[in-house]
Amino acid sequence: MTVEIPTQPARSRRIFGNRTLNMRSIKAIGYDMDYTLIHYNVEEWERTAFDYAKDRLVATGWPVADLEFDAAGVIRGLTIDAELGNLVKPTRFGYVIRGAHGTRRLDFDELRIAYEGTFVDLGEDRWIFLNTLFSLSEASLFAQLVERLDRNELPGRMSYSDLYGAVRVALNEAHMPGRLKQKILADPGRFIVQEPDTVMTLRDQFAAGKRLLLITNSDWDYTSRIMEHAFDPHLPAGMSWRDLFEAVIVSADKPAFFTASRPLYRIVDEDSGFLRPQSGPLDPGGVFVGGCAPDLENHLGVHGDEILYVGDHLFSDVSVSKVLLRWRTALILRELESEIEAAEAFAEDEARLMELMDRKTDLERALASSRLDQLRERSGHAEPIGGPTPPEERIAELREALTAIDEKIGPLAGAAGRQRNEMWGPLMRSGNDKSLFARQVERYADVYTSRVSNFLEATPYAYLRAARGSLPHDP
Ligand SMILES: [Mg+2]
Repeated sequence: MTVEIPTQPARSRRIFGNRTLNMRSIKAIGYDMDYTLIHYNVEEWERTAFDYAKDRLVATGWPVADLEFDAAGVIRGLTIDAELGNLVKPTRFGYVIRGAHGTRRLDFDELRIAYEGTFVDLGEDRWIFLNTLFSLSEASLFAQLVERLDRNELPGRMSYSDLYGAVRVALNEAHMPGRLKQKILADPGRFIVQEPDTVMTLRDQFAAGKRLLLITNSDWDYTSRIMEHAFDPHLPAGMSWRDLFEAVIVSADKPAFFTASRPLYRIVDEDSGFLRPQSGPLDPGGVFVGGCAPDLENHLGVHGDEILYVGDHLFSDVSVSKVLLRWRTALILRELESEIEAAEAFAEDEARLMELMDRKTDLERALASSRLDQLRERSGHAEPIGGPTPPEERIAELREALTAIDEKIGPLAGAAGRQRNEMWGPLMRSGNDKSLFARQVERYADVYTSRVSNFLEATPYAYLRAARGSLPHDP
């Protein structure tokens, strides 16, 4: 064969499939904006949000002016336990095997006492899942305030749940009056990461006949200015980001956009934001407010699995659109890049760890069999199965060998649990198992990838095949 096969992108930039997605059968692609089409400098943004929320608390008399956002102390995918004031990283089955009270890591015994018989069920109010990168400031603030509360340094009597409520209110107030957004708009270059490949990805998709939609919870003023800043410099003269989208829906109020039936408005005057109810077919290129997904489907004449929705919020973007409307879904997970790079850097140690674990398993089998021989000798109900060495001697020798191997495994397993983040380890794993976050990803995201621009290499014609799932009995 003479056709040249393009080289694969680095693993950290590939698209991974839970369910096969044929891009050729997708007619419309809906995009979320924040942390999907637009990537922010996470630390800048979250530090700013944290500081505004802190200012709110200081204004109500809380002595917390010295608190600082700690980017390394929290990761997306953790769960806040509002009842006990903890942050936990559960396994896919909801077992808690790693956690912290405030910012202090809980040891094995503390975790056992707190969570024996308790499973993290995200349907209960007690648990708050950190769905997006916008959750980091919230988790960091809550964790630090838990320690102040424990030391009786906060005014009034409060439970940890009350404290969480106060954090939520402070953060909502920081976001809602637009002070935060005004600060971003005043200096977008500080907060927004420019990515020309994202623009080219959408131009390819547009040219390939995909009908592109922007569906964002941000308001029109913010959306238009952010999109202009991030897209227009990378488009040919005379073209604007608006030309790429058949419809722009702002203030969409996801997840309600997917779950509720609400009226759609059209922005008639884009400068003043003047609205009128939308009736009849959507004018191409129009800007709309609110509405709901089933009406949008009817307007466009495309349904269910003909639509791909691309977003970074595991619940609001990906879970509800999949469960309620059967849309195809792509989750944008920027942290995947550092996660994969950390795993690649650890690969040699990982192989050594696996080798040691295999050896340990062998020793444990031998120990169990020697114990059975000891039992059979004592009770006389059957012949021992082992060799001529007395079981007691074998048991002593094996115990010594197991102690020696554990001393080698300990530091390696510890290092494996600190990959990417010293305190919390990998996002997608909890111990040897998948994390609860990973479970949500595989359940709701048909595909996941670190950024929208990874679809550039994949092309609008890609056949994104699901990975073969592994099972414990695989040979
Ligand atoms: Mg988003």
